[in-house]
Amino acid sequence: MTVKCQGPTRAKGSLSDALETHPPGSVSQKEHIVSDEITREQLKDEIIAALRHSRGVSLAEANNEDMYVAVSTVVRNLLADKWIETREDTLKGNTKAVGYLSAEYLLGTQLPNAILNSGVPQKVEAAVKELGFDLNAVEDVEVEPGLGNGGLGRLAACFIDSLATKAVPAIGYGIRYTYGIFRQEFDKDGNQVERPDYWLYKGSPWEQANYRREQRVGMGGVVVTTKDGKREWKPAWQFRAIPYDYMVPGYESGRVGTLRLWSAKAVDEFDLLTFNRSQYEDAVKGQTWAESITKVLYPEDSTYVGKQLRLEQQYFFSAASLADAISLFYPGEEHPDMTTFPDKITFQLNDTHPVIAIAELMRLLIDKYGYDWDTAFSITQRTFNYTCHTLLPEALEVWDAKLMGELLPRHLEIIEQISDWAAHDQAKHGASPEAIERMRIYSNGRVRMAYLATMAGSHVNGVAELHSQLLKDITLKDFADLYPSKFTNVTNGVTPRRFMRLANPRLSELVTKTLGSEEWLNDLEQLKGLEKYADDPQFLKKFAEVKHQNKVDFADWLKRTQGVEIDPNSMFDTMIKRLHEYKRQSMKLLQVIALYNQLKSGQRDINTFQARTVIFGAKAAPGYAMAKLTIRLINNVARVVNNDPALQGKLRVVFIENYNVTSAQRIIPATDLDEQISLAGKEASGTSNMKFAINGAVTVGTLDGANVEIRERVGAENFFLFGMKVEDVEKLDGNYNPRSYYESDPDLKGAIDAIASGMFSYGDPNTYKEFTENLINKDPFMALADFREYMDIQDKIEAAYQDKQAWTRMGVLNTANSGFFTSDRSIQDYLDRVWMTGSLPQHK
Ligand SMILES: *Cc1c(COP(=O)(O)O)cnc(C)c1O
Repeated sequence: MTVKCQGPTRAKGSLSDALETHPPGSVSQKEHIVSDEITREQLKDEIIAALRHSRGVSLAEANNEDMYVAVSTVVRNLLADKWIETREDTLKGNTKAVGYLSAEYLLGTQLPNAILNSGVPQKVEAAVKELGFDLNAVEDVEVEPGLGNGGLGRLAACFIDSLATKAVPAIGYGIRYTYGIFRQEFDKDGNQVERPDYWLYKGSPWEQANYRREQRVGMGGVVVTTKDGKREWKPAWQFRAIPYDYMVPGYESGRVGTLRLWSAKAVDEFDLLTFNRSQYEDAVKGQTWAESITKVLYPEDSTYVGKQLRLEQQYFFSAASLADAISLFYPGEEHPDMTTFPDKITFQLNDTHPVIAIAELMRLLIDKYGYDWDTAFSITQRTFNYTCHTLLPEALEVWDAKLMGELLPRHLEIIEQISDWAAHDQAKHGASPEAIERMRIYSNGRVRMAYLATMAGSHVNGVAELHSQLLKDITLKDFADLYPSKFTNVTNGVTPRRFMRLANPRLSELVTKTLGSEEWLNDLEQLKGLEKYADDPQFLKKFAEVKHQNKVDFADWLKRTQGVEIDPNSMFDTMIKRLHEYKRQSMKLLQVIALYNQLKSGQRDINTFQARTVIFGAKAAPGYAMAKLTIRLINNVARVVNNDPALQGKLRVVFIENYNVTSAQRIIPATDLDEQISLAGKEASGTSNMKFAINGAVTVGTLDGANVEIRERVGAENFFLFGMKVEDVEKLDGNYNPRSYYESDPDLKGAIDAIASGMFSYGDPNTYKEFTENLINKDPFMALADFREYMDIQDKIEAAYQDKQAWTRMGVLNTANSGFFTSDRSIQDYLDRVWMTGSLPQHK
């Protein structure tokens, strides 16, 4: 995955090394001179110097790993001046900054993106090549920092990319987990095995420990009343919070933002000799505790786990980030005028994980800076905004007050006060006593973080139109009725730099050639210009050729890495996302088994069957038994189907091991058919649907999340819609009888019976008993109710795929009409609707 050279004559807006692409006097021009002036020869010298200085090897000795570190070092150096200048301009405070608080950042690899944004991608590529290395192989060395679970973490990564590209002054704050999301392996039975992801095993050239900005974070202890009647928290423990800084280079913006990830360390200022034995043990315990706080990412996705360590993580990074922001904007001030804080920075809370920051800011304002409650609350409310990511009740964070009180006694007190204030305010707004009771932030020994964020922040947003509507209608209805203007929508987006330019260089080149410039990469609505070529046979041929080559590449990669052979001429039908019952991988699997049964029985003619490769990629939370059983079943269906000679290789099932951002970048450009088949009303947005649409795959999906908006834009005729709507689900809820579907649909019954018979478990009927029983008796996400429509739409898809030109046309119209789904647009929506700020001023 490398930055392709585009030849010497390129139009304005291309990734040009030429100066005249930037308007005179703009910040970009000044910046680009610095890096553009560097010649290929100088780059080669710098790389050789980096090999010698940071690796201690000569060019002749260097391997790909040495080269990876050396090139990364040189590219970082190219970006350093912009980084420093961006920070300086951010801290001038002329434009309100954005603090993005997220417990997860699923970054993907750094080197290709940094090269793209270095200003001289072609020169870097040429320099590496002339030194005798293959840049692709060098880039393959990088281990991606898996500091997130799935969509939520990837969204944060796309957002900081867009913030930098749009030159918005911003800092992303998060946690530097020593172990990221586990590495998934499959054992010989097809079970998921979780291996620790020690991504820092060989260090990372992309992070910089920034001890100058270290903070202290306390936990535990008691609250005392001081002589002057003030409340004061005396924490039992103090931890060091060490920031590790990452560059976030913007595309063609001349700006490099900052991602600041916190790592916990023990305070080691005690003198060992003064401790008696038990104190010594306590001290050591404190050390171990400290290091454990940022040790590991919780591998749960869309599930709430009320573990103490998780609250420690949340508070640790929230408190460190707030302290950092205050010290950045009021350097050296002991009594800062905090009433101006919300004019200097606005904090976006990415789901409820950082919501404890609200109580922390209140504590600082009241206890440390001496503000009265009303002033403190007004500052706090103006500082925070909250993004809700779910509709699933099991995902809403509700902390046990006892646990919170032990860890954060003062914060619990403050939350209690906010809870009382909220009830009072709700009454003032005319809420009924019953409604006020339902909206209680703190009651029955529980603290509801979503309610806290809603009451103590300015805005609440959902992540797709449908989701934001359902938040107002159901999840947060009482609040929306009282405070309608708080609620807004910001539909998610994805960065086209990573998910198009880097993931799909062939399509990028075709788009650039067709549109005449590369401006579409930061103005994605320009893809609309492709629409007029949708009936141009020449263009369709090129578009289809790009897809085919991507499929060939993917097949090669799969063979190389997993030893699995697939046919690039078959339809690539892909479902990649976390394994969760609401996403309904099980329904896809039932369709595959039904297809298999039909082909085996002759009900479907193998000779006219459109060859299909069904591609799954998914990690399951280690404690989520049904999800793990589903993984095992997928692997075993793959084993049986792929080894059945009767199918002549026409139906294949592959399960990509360890699905992550790096593999997403390989799979998505090679996909023909994208599966987005969640039960309507359960998927908040989805973002892989957007990645697929931009890359010209056609989606089969339900009316859920952002599918609704994608279909609206790409056109109903270019989207395969099926299944119940939210209203249908609501109607069925309560008297849903999955068994009736099982009994009345022979395909469905045949598929479930095949599993139950032991067909995929070497004849053992018990292996998947819980899976089949759960579907027939409970089916909480109504896969059986949607199964028939899903089978039927798959037949339509198969027929549609036979007409290759018509299919390609659909893909073109998906690409042409998905410009809306860039994260640049999401960020613009936040600027307009929530943050009320803008870009850094250009240099004079
Ligand atoms: C985009 C992305 C996701 C989110 O996928 P959904 O299908 O929207 O749930 C999850 N994991 C990775 C690695 C991604 O790149």
